[in-house]
Amino acid sequence: MSRFAGIFNALLDIALPPRCHICHKPVQGEISLHICNECYNSLPVINSPLCTVCGMPFEGEGVDHTCSRCITSPPPYSAARAALRYEGSCKELIHAYKYLYKSHLRRPLALLTAEILHSFVSEQRPELLIPVPLHKSRLRSRGFNQSLLIAETLSRNWQIPLLRQGLIRTRRTTPQVELTRAERLTNLKGAFAVKDTESVTGKHIMLVDDVFTTGATLSACAEALLKAGCSRISAVTVAHAIN
Ligand SMILES: [Zn+2]
Ligand SMILES: [Zn+2]
Repeated sequence: MSRFAGIFNALLDIALPPRCHICHKPVQGEISLHICNECYNSLPVINSPLCTVCGMPFEGEGVDHTCSRCITSPPPYSAARAALRYEGSCKELIHAYKYLYKSHLRRPLALLTAEILHSFVSEQRPELLIPVPLHKSRLRSRGFNQSLLIAETLSRNWQIPLLRQGLIRTRRTTPQVELTRAERLTNLKGAFAVKDTESVTGKHIMLVDDVFTTGATLSACAEALLKAGCSRISAVTVAHAIN
């Protein structure tokens, strides 16, 4: 931001105080997130116990362990984690971001993810971040790739290089939300490809997506990357849908 833009924004904050992204009341103090303390404290943050592989949260008390789904059919990625449950205020924010095209919501969503998943990422130590790509036609209709915008902020925050076009979408697929669980798993087979094999071979790649639903998208991306010779795939998403 230039100096003038900074001054302009400061004046704007005095004239029009920033509002909480969730409850829309004016916020002071928590300026970078623009989420008031009350909303911040009631965010559906994912805590232990959770699945050590897919990151799905378990109800009640206990220790982290592998869920029955990940034991029966182990996914091609080694570990995935989400910051928030896909419910309540998190679901509303993501909905407005993706379907009401409020691209400025990338900032609170990415900053929350950066903060909540910081220790997971420090343990994993990925060498590169790669966003889940959108097909060109979807990109045209939405105007932005929601995962790429979030990955840009995560990359800056975590100081991990970002490979914007590490993966490309080779064909158009039916949106996953319109399919059953079984259909979702086959819908994406072979839908992703690595653009430049040399840039990913032998590397630990961390995928970035907005919502983990069945994990089918991340699995299809991970398979393409492993085929290209990546040594390890992990993943982070803003939210995890409980199903
Ligand atoms: Zn609020
Ligand atoms: Zn699992």
